[in-house]
Amino acid sequence: MNFSEKILKVKPSATLEINALANSLKAKGFDVIGFGVGEPDFDTPDFIKKAGIRAIESGKTKYTPAGGIDELKEAIINKFKKDNNLEYNKSNIIVNCGGKHSFYNLMQVLLNKDDEVIIPSPYWVSYPAMVLLAGGTPVILDSSEENNFKITPDDVKKTITNKTKAIVINSPSNPTGSTYTKEELKALAETLVNYDILIISDDMYEALLYDNNKFYNIANINEELKKRTLVLNGVSKAYSMTGWRIGYMAGDENIIKKVDILQSHSTSNPTSISQWAALEALTGDQSVISDMLNIFEKRRNLIVGKLNEIPGVSCKSPGGAFYAFPNVSGVYNSKGWQSVVKKYKSDYNSTILTSYLLEEAKVAVVPGIEFGADSNVRLSFATSDANIINGVGKMKKAIEKLL
Ligand code: PLP
Repeated sequence: MNFSEKILKVKPSATLEINALANSLKAKGFDVIGFGVGEPDFDTPDFIKKAGIRAIESGKTKYTPAGGIDELKEAIINKFKKDNNLEYNKSNIIVNCGGKHSFYNLMQVLLNKDDEVIIPSPYWVSYPAMVLLAGGTPVILDSSEENNFKITPDDVKKTITNKTKAIVINSPSNPTGSTYTKEELKALAETLVNYDILIISDDMYEALLYDNNKFYNIANINEELKKRTLVLNGVSKAYSMTGWRIGYMAGDENIIKKVDILQSHSTSNPTSISQWAALEALTGDQSVISDMLNIFEKRRNLIVGKLNEIPGVSCKSPGGAFYAFPNVSGVYNSKGWQSVVKKYKSDYNSTILTSYLLEEAKVAVVPGIEFGADSNVRLSFATSDANIINGVGKMKKAIEKLL
């Protein structure tokens, strides 16, 4: 079969290999502790579920406008105004089938062959894939761990070319949890304003910001940048609604119109029932977010403390999201490492370590190379305190065996 060049450029995720290994261990009866998942472990709040049930019972089960129902667009406009001090009209808003779909659609309507999209690394694994699937070129811009995995204006200047179409800013970040301060965004804005490129601000983890820090968006810095910024957000992480598949985006109405056309010929509307549930999420009792945030913040402190007790491992405290991204390169220098390399053949140390931890400790973590950082691994702390204590304890024992 001759497949399209686009699909052949996209590799299956290494996480799948780890998952397959984890599942085969589970099938053999082993108790595997998983730190892989990228979703809150809480149930969708009851009042949101009930809105979905009401939508079904009242017959809101038919096609809606491709870009979403007006009621939800109004709620999104209010959310942007209230939480982000950003003013939009309905023509600036579109509802998509999840945050991933917002980004995917955007790439499809923006990119021509060889157009470049700057993606700061470590990155969410789907960004480069979605750029490739649209026929564009992902340009990976490495950030340093010393700078808390954040890019600087100088980094940006060195990376922009005349083919650059857009740059991605993801704060708080998956996988590092790092968050940009207002000052850092201002500095980036002062540089970006000089180039004719778009800014894609992926705010999916906006609600999960720790230490009482306030969220800022680069679109807040000045009007010129706001015109060139697409703000992507959704209900998946904030309201524990990953399965409902509702994301949304705000920006220039000409771009939004094109996304609407694309959507009308591809998925059509996001699920009607989910849209009504998302409306309830955005307009209902917001204390569900702070309740979840408080629990995540305690877990963050717990997991970072425990990871830093492991020899060869150092973990910065993430400012947001629910991922710890420890540096494990010290383990690659341990006495027993070469025997591990021989056993678990891979080009990447983080994949080797992940396989070792799974087999030896029965703990599943994600190799950092998936996100462009082979010195790290990612652990989601969207899991119980008991799993964190037990799982990281097992990791420690397995790593100590290599010393
Ligand atoms: N953006 C980032 C950075 C993410 O990590 C994710 C999901 O993991 C998404 C967007 C998309 O979320 P969803 O498509 O589940 O709404």
